[in-house]
Amino acid sequence: IEPIHIVGAGLAGSEAAWQVARAGVPVILHEMRPAVATFAHRTGDCAEMVCSNSFRSDDDVNNAVGQMHWEMRAAGGLVMAMADRHKLPAGGALAVDRDAFSAAVTDALRAEPLVSFQPGEMTDLPREGRWIIATGPLTSPALGASIQSETGADALAFFDAIAPIVHADSIDMTVAWRQSRYDKGETEDERTAYINCPMTREQYEAFIDALLAADKTEFHEGETAGYFDGCLPIEVMAERGRETLRHGPMKPVGLTDAHKPDQKPYAVVQLRRDNALGTLYNIVGFQTKMKYGAQVQVFRMIPGLENASFARLGGIHRNTFLNSPTLIDDRLRLRSRPALRFAGQVTGVEGYVESAAMGLLAGRLAAAEALGRDLPPPPATTAMGALVHHITGGAEARTFQPMNVNFGLFPPVEARGGRRGRKDRYPAYTERAKQDFAAWLAAQ
Ligand code: FAD
Repeated sequence: IEPIHIVGAGLAGSEAAWQVARAGVPVILHEMRPAVATFAHRTGDCAEMVCSNSFRSDDDVNNAVGQMHWEMRAAGGLVMAMADRHKLPAGGALAVDRDAFSAAVTDALRAEPLVSFQPGEMTDLPREGRWIIATGPLTSPALGASIQSETGADALAFFDAIAPIVHADSIDMTVAWRQSRYDKGETEDERTAYINCPMTREQYEAFIDALLAADKTEFHEGETAGYFDGCLPIEVMAERGRETLRHGPMKPVGLTDAHKPDQKPYAVVQLRRDNALGTLYNIVGFQTKMKYGAQVQVFRMIPGLENASFARLGGIHRNTFLNSPTLIDDRLRLRSRPALRFAGQVTGVEGYVESAAMGLLAGRLAAAEALGRDLPPPPATTAMGALVHHITGGAEARTFQPMNVNFGLFPPVEARGGRRGRKDRYPAYTERAKQDFAAWLAAQ
């Protein structure tokens, strides 16, 4: 069998290599470190964790990340196996000794007879053979340029500017209302595509004060290179003048408060649908460098969002990622060149766990293809399936930003005993996911 080439021995590439080799297919793993560095990596080891040492919640009943852990373990994942082996006490989280973890992943791959290492930077997209590109958020500039020339300049981003994303069912619709600005749109669906949260003058002033006072994170060195056009953090807009936001993303024009039609709001925060299911909404124009705790406090000051539950918080980072909804099919293949698969953060997922999960999936899919088997992706009711369906089809392509796994991506499920709170539904999501994931594995 022809070997499968994998570029990048990070979280995704390492897991992909393991899965391909376990399926009995040879792998050539190309990695540029340590000869070529990134601003975040420190070592030449595989699966280096560049910042926190946590794989987040290990609760596979009430947490979507924990469910992803479960699925990765069920699929014989290397990243989870080595994380479990080197875990540190951390309450409900799966935190690890990062150096021991990466060394163990490296040793396991080096000991695997079907894996060979090819040191060095790939500077061009290859033209022949089967490949998985897993070069991550810090894909080297030369390869980034080559990907861009294949996909088109607008289809590869070098920064993410993530506005916070809210679970739709946590928005108070007795305060907020649905309406597109100036009722624009051909269909009723389009004319009601946005959820609007009104503010009085006092509420707006208090909100600006809170924004200006909030704790912010600093950029990493080497991270800032000219990204600011069009995605200024809201707190920077607020610093430019107290009225700036009211003339920008919070302008109240073209909107009528459905609950108080005679009162003109002083400012309006708009949320836009973020997935086809309509379970997630992003706060339009609210990309931010505020710390996570501060974001929750400040955004819950917005009328209608007092009890908001966030599917993910905002951020701005150096991050190379594809517009996957337009470019990648649900088997993680580049539509224009199906012999090339992408995996990991470069596909527009966010986080160690999600990246490793997309590596696991890409590895299995590529190996099945090399062996002449037809393997569909896992169903959308599983954590892995929900995430891959989101990035390759469910997400809005126009506003696509990287995504964490969360229950908002799962097709809705009713809690046992009828409709109850969102949190009561979590065990039903994970129970269904386990059954469906096990069935997907059993069919291989
Ligand atoms: P990586 O793990 O980055 O692996 C990509 C690999 O490809 C690297 O080893 C790189 O050297 C190699 N490579 C790149 N270009 C080439 C080339 N041309 N040729 C050969 N090899 C190449 N996620 C979290 O969950 N928690 C965090 O705390 C966290 N903090 C982060 C902090 C920073 C500064 C950054 C940039 C990201 C952070 N992330 C965090 C996201 C994290 O990077 C990803 O979740 C994860 O590492 C991505 O996995 P990956 O395999 O896609 O990419």
